[in-house]
Amino acid sequence: MKVDVKTAVLAIIIIAIIVGGTAYWYFYIGPGKPRVVVMGTSADFPPFEFVDEQGNIVGFDVDIAKYIAHKYGWKLEIKDIAFEGLIPALQAGEIDMIVAAMTITPEREEVVDFSIPYYNASQGVLIKAGNPDITTVEDLYNKKIGVQAGTTGEAWAEENLANYSEIIAYQRVYDAVTALVAGYIDALILDDPVATYYGNASADVEKASLVIDTGERYGIAVREGDTELLNKINAALDELIHSDTYYELIEAWFGGS
Ligand code: GLN
Repeated sequence: MKVDVKTAVLAIIIIAIIVGGTAYWYFYIGPGKPRVVVMGTSADFPPFEFVDEQGNIVGFDVDIAKYIAHKYGWKLEIKDIAFEGLIPALQAGEIDMIVAAMTITPEREEVVDFSIPYYNASQGVLIKAGNPDITTVEDLYNKKIGVQAGTTGEAWAEENLANYSEIIAYQRVYDAVTALVAGYIDALILDDPVATYYGNASADVEKASLVIDTGERYGIAVREGDTELLNKINAALDELIHSDTYYELIEAWFGGS
C-alpha cells in the first residue's frame, strides 16, 4: 500500500488530537482529575499562616493542610480572607475548610463542624517596645486595647475589659500591630504563640509577661454535615499528630517551643 505523505501527516495529526484530547479529558475533566480542596485562612497570623517574601502563603497550618492534601492526592488552593469572614465564606461554599489557628468553641460548633484538635494555645499580649510591662489583667484597665475582629481574643476582651477599657477591633493583625507601634492602641491581645512570634520578629513591639490561660484548642472547620471531608481530615490529622513529621513541623515553625 502506498501512503502519500499528506495522508500520513493528516493521520498522525488526527491520532495526536484523539490521544491528546483523551488525556486532557481524563486528567483535567474526567476521572483522573485531582479533587480541588480550597482552604481559607487569614494570612496575618505567623507562624501559623503569613505571606512570605516571595508572596506565598506559608506557615504551620499551611503545612498541615498540604500534608492532608498530599495524603489524598488533592490539589490544595488557598484563599486569604480576614478572620471574621472565614465562617461566612465556608457557609457560602467559597472555601471547603478553614485552617486558620481557629479555636474550637461551642458558639462556632453550632455553625461549623470541627476536626480533632491539633494545637493548644492561650492568649498573649503585645505592647510597644520600651513601654511598661503588663503582668496582670488589671494592667489592661483604662487603656486602648486592640484585638482582631471575630476572634477569641476579642471575645475575652469584651467579657473582661469592656467595663474598664476601650476595645478596638481590627480586621487584620498586621494593621493592629501598626496601630500599636503608632501608639493608637496601648496593647494588643492575640493568641500567645503569635504574640511570641511578633515580639521576636520586630524590634518595635515586645511580648508582655501576661499570659491569659484560656485553654484554647485549634481545629480545622468544615461545613456542617460535610462528614466525608471531615472524616478524611481527621484520619490524616490523627496520623500526622502521632508522627515525627508533626514534631518536625513544630520545630520548623516554633523553634521547638
Ligand atoms: N484562635 C483565635 C480564634 O480562633 C484567633 C485565630 C486567628 O486570629 N487566626 O479566634
